[in-house]
Amino acid sequence: MESTHIQEARTVHCCQCLICKKETFFQTKNPKMKTTRLVLLILKSLKVLKPQIEYYSLVKDILPFINDHLPLFQNLKIFQNGKWRKSILDALNHSAQVESGREVCKNRGFYKIKEEENKVVIEKNKIKDEMSNNLEILENELKRSLRLLEEMKMIQTNEIEKNETLFICESKRASISIIQNLQLLLYHLN
Ligand SMILES: [Zn+2]
Repeated sequence: MESTHIQEARTVHCCQCLICKKETFFQTKNPKMKTTRLVLLILKSLKVLKPQIEYYSLVKDILPFINDHLPLFQNLKIFQNGKWRKSILDALNHSAQVESGREVCKNRGFYKIKEEENKVVIEKNKIKDEMSNNLEILENELKRSLRLLEEMKMIQTNEIEKNETLFICESKRASISIIQNLQLLLYHLN
């Protein structure tokens, strides 16, 4: 992606970076991703697109990359309050997995992923993604059967049957809340 202005989604589709590969995730209604995780994905994507560069410049590489991918980022919380530049910069400066090029480049605003973290982090995030996806499938499945049970309850006339359905509904609700807690724990796991 050479251009720095906002590209159309059609153009983004041709891009081979990690962000574009996660397109379906970013297009969900409320995609949850920590900003520290997002900046790692951005730096990794830049490595795919511009492998020759060691430290990526905030002004010349990172911000143009984000602008090119804005259609994909729109559903992320930090892009909805107009303060995403500050959030991205904070994440770059505070992430333990990001190395500043201040000394090598003799300038501020240059970043790369710490080499030794790279492999471990990629592996860990892959597992986290997999777990999160499976939990989401499970949650949707439970919600679906809960809806069906509630419809059933409406037309049931026998009190004993009704109570049984009520009991199963409660247990489904408890399971859904356990899954939601697990998702939250997973989300906050570094
Ligand atoms: Zn891309």
